[in-house]
Amino acid sequence: MALEIIFLGPPGAGKGTQASKLEDAYNAVQLSTGDMLRAAVKEGSEVGKMAKEIMDAGKLFPDALMAQILGEYVDKLDAEKGIIFDGFPRTEPQAGLLDELLSQRGRSLDHVIELAVDEDALVDRITGRFTCANCGEGYHDRHKLPKTEGVCDVCGATEFKRRPDDNEETVRTRMAEYRAKTEPILPIYEARGLVSRVDGMASIEEVAASIRAILDA
Ligand code: AMP
Repeated sequence: MALEIIFLGPPGAGKGTQASKLEDAYNAVQLSTGDMLRAAVKEGSEVGKMAKEIMDAGKLFPDALMAQILGEYVDKLDAEKGIIFDGFPRTEPQAGLLDELLSQRGRSLDHVIELAVDEDALVDRITGRFTCANCGEGYHDRHKLPKTEGVCDVCGATEFKRRPDDNEETVRTRMAEYRAKTEPILPIYEARGLVSRVDGMASIEEVAASIRAILDA
């Protein structure tokens, strides 16, 4: 049976990191709506132009269009593949749209993992992060520099990139959006008995182990 999991947590909580770590073990695919929008920005499509403006401001992309784009990605997956939703839903309407999207495809939610974190620590995490432009390995100015300066530990590439929305001002807006619009969807899933809370401030390995324990229970 395909496993459908949502990772919920503010920007920088580690949703993307954990999702990509767990994909293989659970025969699941990470679907990040942020990555979908960044791909659209790169393509330079009309949707991409609109997405860039919204993302640079730290605001949220329109619900219905976001769900439609996500649906197109889900439709490309094999039915037996599970899905780890990273960054969706982010609003109450999106939670409803996700239920519809899944039920139309014979799927349903199994778990909502909430990554609980300290906000000031998040700003520190986000404003220092960067990735290898070639393999996507994550680094940090203060916590995880490449072993040899300017060279990726994993693939040896020398180009790195930073997200344009990872500056303090935008991060604060993204946090406020999370508190105002995303946090209120937790009770909906709590009422359905789907939510498990994990300490997102622990190390990457510890967080992954806690999530595995929940999924394997
Ligand atoms: P993320 O990579 O998840 O941090 O998302 C980066 C940005 O993309 C967010 O700050 C939003 O502007 C936009 N975005 C990503 N996912 C969604 C979503 N589910 N609904 C609305 N906007 C989104």
